Amino acid sequence: MRSEFLPFSTPTIEEAEINEVVDCLRSGWITTGPKVKRFEEAFGAYVGAPFAVPLSSATAGLHLTLLALKIQEGDEIITTPMTFVSTVSMIVLCGGTPVFADIEPGTLNIDATKIREKISSRTRAIIPVHFAGQSCDMDPIFSLATEFGLTVIEDAAHAAGSEYKGQRIGSLDSISIFSFHPNKNITTGEGGMVCTRDEALAEEVSLLKFHGMNREAWKRFAASGTPNYDIVLPGFKYNMMDIQAALGIHQLPKLDGFINKRQEIAEFYSHAFADLPELALPTYAPFVQRHAWHLYTPLVRIEKLTIDRDQFMTALKQENIGTGLHYKAVHHHTWYKENLPQPEGSLSNADYASDRILSLPLFPKMTLDDASDVVEAVKRVITRCRK
Ligand SMILES: *Cc1c(COP(=O)(O)O)cnc(C)c1O
Repeated sequence: MRSEFLPFSTPTIEEAEINEVVDCLRSGWITTGPKVKRFEEAFGAYVGAPFAVPLSSATAGLHLTLLALKIQEGDEIITTPMTFVSTVSMIVLCGGTPVFADIEPGTLNIDATKIREKISSRTRAIIPVHFAGQSCDMDPIFSLATEFGLTVIEDAAHAAGSEYKGQRIGSLDSISIFSFHPNKNITTGEGGMVCTRDEALAEEVSLLKFHGMNREAWKRFAASGTPNYDIVLPGFKYNMMDIQAALGIHQLPKLDGFINKRQEIAEFYSHAFADLPELALPTYAPFVQRHAWHLYTPLVRIEKLTIDRDQFMTALKQENIGTGLHYKAVHHHTWYKENLPQPEGSLSNADYASDRILSLPLFPKMTLDDASDVVEAVKRVITRCRK
């Protein structure tokens, strides 16, 4: 057994990030300013988005995107139940109604073939989530959007660096929202980015993120700015700070290397677990894509074991192996059970995954020895708890 606890994720912060934050602190400009501008431009260029709006989180990005689209009472938005709750709670907080389509059993992405039956005269948008960094099948989703006049909003929180049929996530004809939470593929501490080809949408999100002040108002205390400003609509306080962007500026050039390392560990796991009937391993989608391997999420076949998933996670913790839970399906959470009950069996793949899924340690600083420790611990728990 390992002597040291292996967390499920930890960010890679090196000297360049630390020095840039120190530079920011010494510069006298710590909130939104030149470093945010640099990160915004570099990230937009990396993903291939003509417009990128930096924010305090992806949750803020979802919120402002839905507000900019004027989502309101009665509007329906189709999304997946296998996501972090903020995808869905932002719909609710805008007054909209989330409508869940079931997931595919292997990729755990929204099943594009199950979306059509969920479309009604009230449907306004579809929010696919690129689960674990693997792209959803976007072509059928875009066809439906065109046929029914819907907006596509990609929850790309896991998908910095992902590609769909040769195109980077962030460059498609939609709105993509990225997260830079410390567990994500690159981090700014907390942070998010809305990427789009739609200039008007980007402008609206930009206004909403900072009090509804005209675009360059952050300069108002600098020599190049003017202290006067105008408010063109009531807005929020969702801006990214230079302290945060200082991290992002040095994380972004490392993203491709991070993904390669993640892929190496994910493939090590898949190889090592290939013969274990007690685990259902994540599968690759059949189209050409680049998986960003944000998460490695096997399903524990609890029907073959004497313990449930939570007990499995506790057993791994006793082996000094950390795990994550991505995700308990959104419709299993109390508020959604009480306020948005789902017909029995209508989300059967999500229900199945929700009780069985766990995230094994996966982060760029991990070594293959660490991954071996995980494999050995998982095998020990399974051997001990086989039916
Ligand atoms: C992390 C995450 C979010 C929220 O991102 P924040 O930056 O923490 O607000 C939204 N959706 C998914 C799928 C996520 O994993």
